[in-house]
Amino acid sequence: MDQIKINLSEQDMPRQWYNVLPDLADPLAPPLDPETRKPLAPDRLEAIFPKALIEQEMSAQRWIDIPEPILEIYRLFRPSPLVRARRLEQAIGTKARIYYKNESVSPAGSHKPNTAIAQAYYNKQEGVRRLATETGAGQWGTALSFACKMFDMECTVYMVRCSYDQKPYRGIIIRTYGGDVYPSPSSRTSIGRQMLEKDPDSGGSLGLAISEAVEDAATHGDTKYALGSVLNHVVLHQTITGLEVKKQLEMAGEKPDILVGCVGGGSNFGGLVLPYMPEKMDGQKIRFVAVEPQACPTLTKGRFAYDFGDMARQTPLLKMYTLGHAYFPPPIHAGGLRYHGESPIVSHIARHGFVEARAYFQNEVFDAARLFMQAEGFLPAPETSHAIKATIDLAREAEPGQVIVFLYSGHGLLDLGSYDAYLRGDLQDKAFTDDEIAEALKDCPQL
Ligand SMILES: *Cc1c(COP(=O)(O)O)cnc(C)c1O
Repeated sequence: MDQIKINLSEQDMPRQWYNVLPDLADPLAPPLDPETRKPLAPDRLEAIFPKALIEQEMSAQRWIDIPEPILEIYRLFRPSPLVRARRLEQAIGTKARIYYKNESVSPAGSHKPNTAIAQAYYNKQEGVRRLATETGAGQWGTALSFACKMFDMECTVYMVRCSYDQKPYRGIIIRTYGGDVYPSPSSRTSIGRQMLEKDPDSGGSLGLAISEAVEDAATHGDTKYALGSVLNHVVLHQTITGLEVKKQLEMAGEKPDILVGCVGGGSNFGGLVLPYMPEKMDGQKIRFVAVEPQACPTLTKGRFAYDFGDMARQTPLLKMYTLGHAYFPPPIHAGGLRYHGESPIVSHIARHGFVEARAYFQNEVFDAARLFMQAEGFLPAPETSHAIKATIDLAREAEPGQVIVFLYSGHGLLDLGSYDAYLRGDLQDKAFTDDEIAEALKDCPQL
């Protein structure tokens, strides 16, 4: 009898995160100061981040101990199960074996608490009373408000106005955790007030919400800022998933041939694949497949260059795959994948040929989500469904006996509006032309 769920015991949960930085054959390009365009002095970040996280951002230490108070909260939902998707295999008619790492079992319903808990902890340690952040679709705001409550901290979430109006449920969860959520642009910050003066009905954008949260942190001594993806320390915290997968596959007597994850800012994908980098650099045959929307094709069509992380050009310049910080992706339903840039670490290993990227349209992604749901029973987030679509295609191409593992980054129970649009046939499949990309990339700083 084949085992379906491969569960680790709490004692076998990893106690260290894996930092890939010291293992990279050539080093990551440093972040640059947005004004001087010289490598950023670490203390420039201290207004918005705690020292411990700035240290992790640049750490040369391969293994980083997870403090016990973080492990204790992880244990509310970790280790998460690795599940054999046998019924999906049968539905596809593949002889490959498909597993998924189920991160939707966290309280917030996604992988994001893995870093939210760690970030709240290190801030608390340094006497921070409140965290400010932005959220688009609301997943990150949910995770951070949960994490702040665990450490008795306050949480202020700037939520992009159009999502705030269209998707009230995430805001309700954030408030129930005790967080405060404001539609962005808000009148709480000078950049928000400027925007409201120009356009009182502005729907906002993620870039603007970032600017508001950063301003809130920089102008309040007891408040710092937290980011849910992209940065090295975020990807570091997410390696708990790949480290668990390694142990779970060993328990099942399996070796992975292909690892698959969707990419927005790159944190769930990086968390899954980076613990396999040493083997991969050693020449072991294991494929890393990153999946993105055709409407925001950062890895498949972007440029590897220094760019700003936000529209207001306030953040440090990061060397990454980017579509240009002024790129405004069409309003697709996988809100978590609508980011113009990409984790510098994931970008770096992609640049060195370690990552295969694939891009898909919304309708084919929702077709895959429905096939998965009808076979396995669970309703995936639209973001996650990108990884599912690629996994199904890979399984159809695979040799018999190949092992494919994908990261199930979140459930879709609060994305029913998107499923409704799909079922009605209302989803647009917008192709992104080379001319539009060239236009968007014009805004990258020339260095
Ligand atoms: C935020 C989110 C993503 C994308 O973010 P990454 O940093 O690329 O992982 C993917 N899936 C879900 C469910 C999310 O909430």
